[in-house]
Amino acid sequence: MSSVIDKSKSKKKRSDKFDKLIGPMDTKVDAQARERLVTARVGLLLRQSFFGNLATRMKLINADEWCATAATDGRNFYYNSRFIMMLKTKEVEFLFGHEVLHVVYDHIDRRGNRDPQIWNIANDYTVNADLKRHKVGQFITTVPCLYEQKYDGKTSEEIYDDLMKNVQKLDINDLIDQMIDDHMDGDADDLRFLDPAGSVVALYAKGRAKKDKTGFVVDYPAIAS
Ligand SMILES: [Zn+2]
Repeated sequence: MSSVIDKSKSKKKRSDKFDKLIGPMDTKVDAQARERLVTARVGLLLRQSFFGNLATRMKLINADEWCATAATDGRNFYYNSRFIMMLKTKEVEFLFGHEVLHVVYDHIDRRGNRDPQIWNIANDYTVNADLKRHKVGQFITTVPCLYEQKYDGKTSEEIYDDLMKNVQKLDINDLIDQMIDDHMDGDADDLRFLDPAGSVVALYAKGRAKKDKTGFVVDYPAIAS
């Protein structure tokens, strides 16, 4: 399917406007960010317990060194502490809901041989529309966030097909810029994170990760599948 798309168009990366957020972790900022994350999670538990419960099962892992926003591999919640501090607490609730729905909808494993970038965009449209409709946290406006009313209630597959139909008219770069997170979905050229035994435990899909200098290792928390 991806052969339908002009390669140069489908391989666009997010612009570097968030790249200044990538860098060494500042322990003070991280402590503030974790407090904001925990507060947001408690808020979700109180108001949206489905999302709060699942958010609590995701391990919070600082990713200042390689991720400018947030990310999930289906198990962990990776965050950039500086990005978290840019958001209001209720927007962080929305962000948790966003990552939870990617996991619940199994977006990573449903891609098949679809174009990864278009699939990622379709996933964010479906997730954000759901969160907005169910009033989970506060829709993120501090940074651009993908939303189209016409995609409300549609599955990722339906949205993907619609995007593919119009792909020549779309500004893929602009849409990627409106993604509030990275989806780890395992392209051939992804950065691989290895555990101490050398097994691949996570894949970074978007290409902006340079190199893991932190000895970053993903471990598996107990999580309902
Ligand atoms: Zn997303």
